[in-house]
Amino acid sequence: MGAIRLEGVEKWFGDLQVIKGIDLEINPGEFVIFVGPSGCGKSTLLRVISGLEEASRGSVHIDGKDVTALPPSGRGLSMVFQSYALYPHMSVRENMGFALKTAGAPKAEIEAKVNKAAEVLQLEEYLDRRPKALSGGQRQRVAIGRSIVRDPAAFLFDEPLSNLDAALRVEMRFEIAKLHRNLDATMIYVTHDQVEAMTLADKIVVLQSGRIEQVGSPRELYERPDNLFVAQFIGSPK
Ligand code: ADP
Ligand code: MG
Repeated sequence: MGAIRLEGVEKWFGDLQVIKGIDLEINPGEFVIFVGPSGCGKSTLLRVISGLEEASRGSVHIDGKDVTALPPSGRGLSMVFQSYALYPHMSVRENMGFALKTAGAPKAEIEAKVNKAAEVLQLEEYLDRRPKALSGGQRQRVAIGRSIVRDPAAFLFDEPLSNLDAALRVEMRFEIAKLHRNLDATMIYVTHDQVEAMTLADKIVVLQSGRIEQVGSPRELYERPDNLFVAQFIGSPK
């Protein structure tokens, strides 16, 4: 599962319209990337999907259910933040199981889910370590692991790699691609980096000033950009 549909979504901050009528279909298991210049509304659109911002008009549907009025916790999505914010005094295992423990899940279930997540993320040998004994990339994986255990309908990422240095960024891009293959989960990922978009996405949504300029696979956008903005953004000849 993990089908997401936006219908006529608008977002206003006071008199400022930031999202201007977005219709979009995201299929289960798809890796969808929102790209566009700074300030075009990528983060706001993601926050409207997650429920962190309320849509001013229009609706958000997840697996056929209208979730527009639901808070983030009722949507079954997982937001992976850029700052890892792991609990320093807990082991990797405890960090990953914490949300389930708080929700009152049985011990055996927590253990099974944490072990499965650790396997997918190749963190098995680090389960008893504290976050400070991990590399940046491993910490990011633990942060993702904390989401995986809750079986979200989709993972939402807002520029997760933008604070990393160039070498780690390349490593993490590779990790995220692998994670998508292993999990077979819907992912919505925001970036202003064309290379990330072109290498990771099944489907790219090009935004400008709160509107969709074009939606397509990396290849479609490269070979058949609808307009000069898309061509210039993607770096294709037109
Ligand atoms: P992006 O992520 O593409 O850089 P954002 O979605 O963060 O863009 O922002 C889009 C526009 O909305 C910007 O002009 C930004 O200043 C404005 N904006 C974002 N959040 C708020 C807010 N809480 N209040 C007022 N304006 C906001
Ligand atoms: Mg942003």
